[in-house]
Amino acid sequence: EAKRSGKHLVKLYEPSMVDRRARDGVLAELLGDALHAGELQVVYQPLVDLSDGRPVGVEALVRWHHRDLGPVSPMEFIPVAERTGMITTLGLWVLEEACRQVRAWQLRRPGCRIYASVNISPRQLQEPTLVGDVLAVLSRTGLPATDLVLEITESAIVDEHAAVPALADLRAHGVRIAIDDFGTGYSSLQYLTRLPVDVLKIDRSFVSQLDSTPEGAAVAEAVIRLGQVLGLRTIAEGIETPAQAAELQLLGCGHGQGYLFARPMPAADLDDMMGTAPIRG
Ligand code: C2E
Ligand code: MG
Ligand code: MG
Ligand code: MG
Repeated sequence: EAKRSGKHLVKLYEPSMVDRRARDGVLAELLGDALHAGELQVVYQPLVDLSDGRPVGVEALVRWHHRDLGPVSPMEFIPVAERTGMITTLGLWVLEEACRQVRAWQLRRPGCRIYASVNISPRQLQEPTLVGDVLAVLSRTGLPATDLVLEITESAIVDEHAAVPALADLRAHGVRIAIDDFGTGYSSLQYLTRLPVDVLKIDRSFVSQLDSTPEGAAVAEAVIRLGQVLGLRTIAEGIETPAQAAELQLLGCGHGQGYLFARPMPAADLDDMMGTAPIRG
């Protein structure tokens, strides 16, 4: 009897772990060809000025559609790409696509100064060629350095402390640095004052609690105040309701993004939105 239930336990645990590892292995292998096979796509989510709904920028987000597996979430394949090192190539490709696309939107409409916001993974921060690579992309695409924001998570900056001079160097060229998912990491606030940073992105988990729990509202407010004191812009992610947008604006949050305004979309679907007219949630 004991043996049987023991067997049962093994059955419960083992298959999922093996499946996970097997799938990661498969993903790692398939990802190697994904770029050349044209399976990767960059989609864009508008960032809007919360005071009037005008688009001020776009966040570039990568998508992978494999012919057999179907769509694979970046939450699943970005960590795999991190482990294999593929993220370096993939990340640079996303950066170049995004800069070229945003430059095209800028040129199409006089007076349109939207910026590109691009996610940079911890592994990319370790690359000694990071600064040179980013500057080369800017010069190839013609996007002004001041219209590029690099999104880096709090833990990545803490872990890759050696990258701080590189970030400072990029910043000296006009590139802005945002801390992504702010509030979910573990860095001390004291530390923050010494980092080369321009923008705090308030994590979606706090935004979603904004109109439901006092704790969520308190954290969002604290981040916005912190930003004000340190002279940093705050951007809220994951805004889904008009009440959340209104509350964030009331608290003094400048910019935001979320399904309320627009989902991440292929560039062609955003052509009409990238003007000066407000995106109404
Ligand atoms: P992130 O950088 O925090 O990006 C925001 C995520 O929130 C995106 O998920 C976006 O689709 C989602 N989102 C935006 N508004 C809403 C909303 O109103 N409600 C909800 N429920 N979700 C919303 P996505 O595209 O699945 O990307 C997940 C994560 O994968 C990103 O989180 C980022 O960490 C990573 N990622 C995506 N593309 C890249 C990339 O090109 N390079 C790197 N290094 N990481 C990437
Ligand atoms: Mg991001
Ligand atoms: Mg984020
Ligand atoms: Mg996030």
